Amino acid sequence: MSNKLIVYMIDGVAAEHYRTEPGRFPHIASLERRGFRIENLHAEALGTSLPGRTSMLTGMTADMSGVYGNKIWDGTEFRYSSPDDIRVPTIPSRARAAGKTVASLNAAMIRQQDTDIMKAPWFIDGVFIQRARDVEPSPATASWLNVINAPKSDVFIQACEAAGIPADFPQMDKAQELQRAFFGLIADQMAADWVGALAASEHAPDLIWAEFLMTDFFQHNTGYKSEISHWIMSQADMAVGKILHYLREADQLDQWNIAVMSDHGHSAIETALHPQVIIPGVTVQCEGGSLLVAPKDASELEMVTEKLAEYGVEPYPNTCIPTEMQDQVYVFVAPPKISFENDNPDETEPTGHPKATSTHGLKPGMTGDDRFAIFAGPNVPQGCIPAANAVQVAPSFAKILDLPLDGFIAVPIF
Ligand SMILES: [Zn+2]
Repeated sequence: MSNKLIVYMIDGVAAEHYRTEPGRFPHIASLERRGFRIENLHAEALGTSLPGRTSMLTGMTADMSGVYGNKIWDGTEFRYSSPDDIRVPTIPSRARAAGKTVASLNAAMIRQQDTDIMKAPWFIDGVFIQRARDVEPSPATASWLNVINAPKSDVFIQACEAAGIPADFPQMDKAQELQRAFFGLIADQMAADWVGALAASEHAPDLIWAEFLMTDFFQHNTGYKSEISHWIMSQADMAVGKILHYLREADQLDQWNIAVMSDHGHSAIETALHPQVIIPGVTVQCEGGSLLVAPKDASELEMVTEKLAEYGVEPYPNTCIPTEMQDQVYVFVAPPKISFENDNPDETEPTGHPKATSTHGLKPGMTGDDRFAIFAGPNVPQGCIPAANAVQVAPSFAKILDLPLDGFIAVPIF
């Protein structure tokens, strides 16, 4: 029995998209046929990217892991969550503690010191973090700089040389959005080659964790199930196909467990609410259909609650916030098909057509945030279940890797 595992996270593939468009996912479907499918893997609250990844890594709810938003409150401002914000053990740290080897390829939220091979995600360029959708780059914190400055791995370089592929992302001009989009596409596909080449190599690590990110970008920018969104799904599926091809060619496919899933879903958005107009001057963080608010005091919180209520926005229990911050950060959720956007400081209207015509981070429990999830491999049974919870993913990884299951708050999916 092999305990090796590839985790391949494809950003923002909704359960509904996978279910209704099976022809777009032939390679993933081939995994499903010999593996295990969770039709609706519920999102972590909030259903945005870095909490979704952190949940997969830890098996903990956000109040325990500390990562409840793409940006979290540091007492002064909302800033990007980083790997060092995670307060609990992760699958990579548990694997290393058990003497296993770990590679993180183009994946966010994994600490450099929990890996043997670290290739930083393409959205960190050494100084700034700029995810494809960001209008302005944010300064990279020390934690992210630690990731980007990870030492080079001879094992990784040799695997790339043997496969005849570059061991680094290309140097490209990324000033314009179109250039960033192409860079993201190239980098995501390159990372899939890295996964395949490394997994098929002589000194493959026990755990390879990698991501395909641009699925999220194109859905935000072109809409749920737009032709371009369908196309990027095919791109992600082809990336999975490449990984499978490398393993087949090396006669290694039967040796690897493979988990392919998303961090959250996506669904269509019709209206954007502009907090910079509705509650000007209030410190907020837009997380799709959810809004994090750090009010100055109780009276500002009361004013925010009243103003947002005019647009059908409700307060939501802030149990996803770590206990010691629950009197500083509050959660509000928009009605269906409505999200929050505050990118434009010159905005004058309280509502408008959304820039992101598809998004996530909905009121917890809404099905649009549900994501697809497939497991296959020697340690995976065949089957299909209608639903599972976010906290069950990490213990499932632990079981496949033959790691101790103590400390998890949920049981494995199978
Ligand atoms: Zn995401």
